[in-house]
Amino acid sequence: MSAMRDETDLRTLQQLVTRRFALASVTYGLGLVLTWVAVAGGFYQASVASAVAQSALIVVSQLLFFWLFHRGVNLRSKDPSLTEPQVLVGLLWLTTFLFNLGSARGSLLVLYLLVLMFAVFLPPKVFIRYAALAFVSFVSMAALDYYLQRPIETDVFLLQASVLLVTLIWMCLFAGHVYRLRQRMRQRRFALQAHQDTLRGMMRQLEDLASTDELTGLYNRRRFLRIAEGDLNRLRKGHQSGLALIDLDHFKRINDIHGHATGDRVLQAFASVARSCLRDDDVLARYGGEEFVLLLPNTDAEQFTACCERLREAFANAEPEDANIEAGHLSLSIGLTLLNAGDDLDAALQRADEALYRAKRGGRNRCEPAWVTADA
Ligand code: GH3
Ligand code: MG
Ligand code: MG
Repeated sequence: MSAMRDETDLRTLQQLVTRRFALASVTYGLGLVLTWVAVAGGFYQASVASAVAQSALIVVSQLLFFWLFHRGVNLRSKDPSLTEPQVLVGLLWLTTFLFNLGSARGSLLVLYLLVLMFAVFLPPKVFIRYAALAFVSFVSMAALDYYLQRPIETDVFLLQASVLLVTLIWMCLFAGHVYRLRQRMRQRRFALQAHQDTLRGMMRQLEDLASTDELTGLYNRRRFLRIAEGDLNRLRKGHQSGLALIDLDHFKRINDIHGHATGDRVLQAFASVARSCLRDDDVLARYGGEEFVLLLPNTDAEQFTACCERLREAFANAEPEDANIEAGHLSLSIGLTLLNAGDDLDAALQRADEALYRAKRGGRNRCEPAWVTADA
């Protein structure tokens, strides 16, 4: 169950990360389109070769990220979407692009915000780093213009730089808010998961309680019938399972002579003897009172009879703990039947019950099959 939940969590995370990656890819694609619109419109001041180089940077880096993304390579384990390197390449490209736009640069300042949009999922400290990089890049462009002795409109530059700074500060605050919100949601999810785990544990305990016999620790009748129905449905043609009803002999007498508590010890002794005689796949349940039912999957008449005989003999030699009963004073009777594919469970139980009745009538302390035997 827990594995299933982990899988669902992983799938949700993968979806989120994939969407974030797709958002970055769209931003990259937009960059590609803008580059060539600027080239075609004559706004691009550098050579076409530079535009080609920029486009190549976008395409090659995105293909590389895509490849890494699909190979599950995380440059930072906390960020499986490769957001950080994508933001870095996006900012570098944008700075080169804007630098080559000359005076048209200011109108496309908003693109810095677009690139930073898919970084808002990063921790605030990291986001502030990239916001600072965006601002420094923008200011460096003016410095480079100055160095290259290009004409600079100082007033316009100051206005643009101020607008960018204010917007970036606002985005940093927003990123902090998003981060805190996600932290809170994560905490709630953990708390919810803890509650779910507790509930699941309690459910399991309840199921165990509802399907186990308290005195012997064996399955109860309800659980047995469910298991036996399932086994019968899965039974393939040509295969057989054994079904036996076991009843302790003269149990009332044990209660009457030694007391009810001793009777309980005898029931527990039977359960422990039976457990040591049976395999893990065999299903034993308390059918009611001092009556038990046994299902032996994949067996035949001979093996099944041998198993029941072993059980009968083992119980006859049992010495219950804290009970004043010596070995050789206990016995049980068993009615056996075989289950075939397509059999009805109620009818089979009825057959076993009739066989058990014959075992009692025949003198008790014996196994009586419901089928016709060679020596019958
Ligand atoms: P038979 O050999 O024909 O089976 O005789 P029996 O005495 O075993 O059968 P009967 O059905 O007459 O008596 C069963 C007794 O089992 C009656 C009931 O009080 C007792 N019993 C049922 N459940 C429990 C239990 O949980 N603990 C104890 N100590 N006795 C129980
Ligand atoms: Mg009995
Ligand atoms: Mg009985």
